[in-house]
Amino acid sequence: MTNKKLNWLCYKCIGDSEIKKRIQEQGKEKKCFYCGELRISIEIRKLATWIDKVYRKYYSSAPYYFVSVCQPAQVEGKNPEEIIAEMVEADKEIANLIVDYLSKEEERRVIKKGESPLYNSSNKYKRIDKSPDELHDMWKLFKKRIQYQRRFFANEAEKLLESILKGIEKFAEKDSLSPVRWLEPNDSKHIYRARIANTPKEVKKIIENTPKSLAPPPPEKNRGGRMNPSGISVFYGSFNEETCIAEVRPIVGGLVVVGKFEVIKPLKLLDLTNFNKPLPDVSMFRNNYDQIVFQWQFLYDFHRLISKPVQPHEESIKYIPTQVVAEYIANELKYDGVIYSSAQLISDEFNNLEGLENIVLFDAQKIIKDVYYNELKFYSKINKKFLEKYIDIDEEQINNDFSLKFISESEKIYEISSVNYTHNNRNLNEFDKQTGAFV
Ligand SMILES: [Zn+2]
Repeated sequence: MTNKKLNWLCYKCIGDSEIKKRIQEQGKEKKCFYCGELRISIEIRKLATWIDKVYRKYYSSAPYYFVSVCQPAQVEGKNPEEIIAEMVEADKEIANLIVDYLSKEEERRVIKKGESPLYNSSNKYKRIDKSPDELHDMWKLFKKRIQYQRRFFANEAEKLLESILKGIEKFAEKDSLSPVRWLEPNDSKHIYRARIANTPKEVKKIIENTPKSLAPPPPEKNRGGRMNPSGISVFYGSFNEETCIAEVRPIVGGLVVVGKFEVIKPLKLLDLTNFNKPLPDVSMFRNNYDQIVFQWQFLYDFHRLISKPVQPHEESIKYIPTQVVAEYIANELKYDGVIYSSAQLISDEFNNLEGLENIVLFDAQKIIKDVYYNELKFYSKINKKFLEKYIDIDEEQINNDFSLKFISESEKIYEISSVNYTHNNRNLNEFDKQTGAFV
């Protein structure tokens, strides 16, 4: 670092978006030591301080193993130059310079306080993974308290959900990674819904009024599911026929009626399939980096939970946590619904899910125009007459409120010829014969 010319680095020689932004905000126009251009640059010393802060937080010395009889070695981890090159997305030469600076700085401290060095090029270092554990604990606590101490919900749960879910729309630095998806009226995407018919007579009954038969059951008949407590109806649908048939889990020889709906109002949806993948490239230098990691992991777990098929024998208490999250997404975050992967068509990992998605729409009363429109129109007319002097009811507005319209004569009847089962072999050792449960 004695060479003065090496002191400045421009924003274009660093890939990390957050660092780039900071250099542009705080830098000066200088000649970059690396590319030689006159551009907004930052002193290597300052850049190293930023890096040091984040590096210390997320990296520690990799463990030693006895690989030979008495010689311990670090078999995993990376040297500091590699880590920093990856962290800031810069060339090795730049990373070397930064490590060189930081290790010299560190030398004094290490000698003085007896700390173990973090920038020793012949040592290896490993990422500390702390957030997911904290998160799992929080979710565990949340589940427990929400299931057994329901009063807890009003304040604490709301605060917890706010901390987990707030700002999820701004997750991604790139728009393509945003979990917000809009379905527009002119979209070519249709929504399908299926219903099991045990006999041809039942088919007849369904297609006598298909939209009504495929509409969510009235609240009093609703049994509740992963996304809705009993007594509250939501609309579960899919983006293709195959998926929605699989979701109703018909038996071989059974009959299924499928109907097709078009979207007639813009719908704001939370696309949970966005979280199937590991956390994408988010800058570790962002102030809210920990929260982003936390939220991503939470939504990844939540998505897996709601994709699991509902088991008839399962206690309804098990669904309360996901129901509460869904309620929060609907009422506080103001989403019209959620898109999630179908667990019926894939067994283990969420791979190649294009098209195999389900959708749940929250406000069931306003979902299918064909079903509720006439009733609503009827009531609004009575009200209008009654309240003429006070309220001007806008029928057009009522009409616009609905989300879906049944595509007339889109019904198809399927007879199930085979069902494709996949299974995982569960180890007998994992089964506790005393309690009758998997451990
Ligand atoms: Zn440069």
